[in-house]
Amino acid sequence: MLPASVKSDFPILSRTVNGKPLVYLDNAATTQKPTAVLDASRHYYEHLNSNIHRGTHYLARAATEAHEQARLTIANHLNAATPDEVIFTSGCTDSINLVSNILHLEPGDEILISTLEHHSNIVPWQMLAQRSGAKIVVIPCLEEGTLDPVAFHNLLSAKTRIMALTWVSNAFGTIVPVEDMIARAKQNGTLVLIDAAQALPHMAVDVRKLGADFITFSGHKIYAPTGIGILWGRLDLLQQLPPWRGGGEMIKEVTFQVTTYNDPPFKYEAGTPNIEGAIALAAAIEYVDGIGIGEIHSHESSLIQAAADALKGISGIRLFGPAHRIGAISFAIDGIHHYDLGTLIDQMGVAVRTGHHCCQPLMARFGITGTTRASFALYNTLEDVEALVSAIKKAKLLLS
Ligand SMILES: *Cc1c(COP(=O)(O)O)cnc(C)c1O
Repeated sequence: MLPASVKSDFPILSRTVNGKPLVYLDNAATTQKPTAVLDASRHYYEHLNSNIHRGTHYLARAATEAHEQARLTIANHLNAATPDEVIFTSGCTDSINLVSNILHLEPGDEILISTLEHHSNIVPWQMLAQRSGAKIVVIPCLEEGTLDPVAFHNLLSAKTRIMALTWVSNAFGTIVPVEDMIARAKQNGTLVLIDAAQALPHMAVDVRKLGADFITFSGHKIYAPTGIGILWGRLDLLQQLPPWRGGGEMIKEVTFQVTTYNDPPFKYEAGTPNIEGAIALAAAIEYVDGIGIGEIHSHESSLIQAAADALKGISGIRLFGPAHRIGAISFAIDGIHHYDLGTLIDQMGVAVRTGHHCCQPLMARFGITGTTRASFALYNTLEDVEALVSAIKKAKLLLS
């Protein structure tokens, strides 16, 4: 387990909510920010603020250097071949929209996704399907909340142009065996995008080992601010594919007749970027690397196991997802609406998420409208798990 002192790296965690100490278990929605990240944002605006890449003056150069250093830090964390493969976006949703807008599909092509997907890895593909006449094909989910491997085998075909999968389910905490699935898809000549929004905060992500073509995530799920995210893409693909948004920064030369585009990553970064966000994201990655992603993974695994064991003891509870989960645990209690449960335990200072978790098709698969979800970060403790379980027990008495 990590020392409880890491909690003091996060100023917000010392506040109270409804007169009770805050127990924050909504980390799959967004994480809290450590002082190191808050300081990086403030330092940028106090000492470096300037527009990047175009200026000749001192601050413009310093800001550019800090921004590109942030790209390098993130590239190193991902084991990218070059920082040119790291594109700054506004978040995971933006990254997936970017990829779905630069691929050219034709009628009859298929886009393979899964029942576990977040809406942001469904809707952009539906929009592409509508534009191109391609078809969405969905890998079904088994009762235990894992993907059906036999169905995957049968659904991957010569028509599958792109497979877009979440690595870790934000709703159930399921870890999808993406390594094997990517290998199969690549043998099939299929492009692969991995939504790593819930993987990056909890496990090592090595893009070269993984072998996917695109990887997406959001900064705010890994202790960085909102409004910044990453699209990692294979350099040769980024060089070949067309740009998406047009504007400043993504160009080499513009005339009224014709524009030549910049090289990646700048080709995909039209307009003034979120400079402070990029720098703060690098600070968050450095903070995580300072603790060690392996240590974070085992700490959070112990917490989630403790939560699962304690929750199982509550009568009428149904846990969703497999026994081996990461990040989040989802459950429902017979006869109690998730919204009522979430509202009551909030009164006791415990913050969880209730509802469909942006996964309505997954909820429909299980015949439910939503769940209660507790999701974990490196600063959570066994005391947080105890507070969660005891709040649920109290709420259950009040509600039944
Ligand atoms: C949060 C999340 C997203 C969307 O991220 P945004 O920050 O809202 O763009 C996509 N996929 C998964 C698995 C997520 O958890």
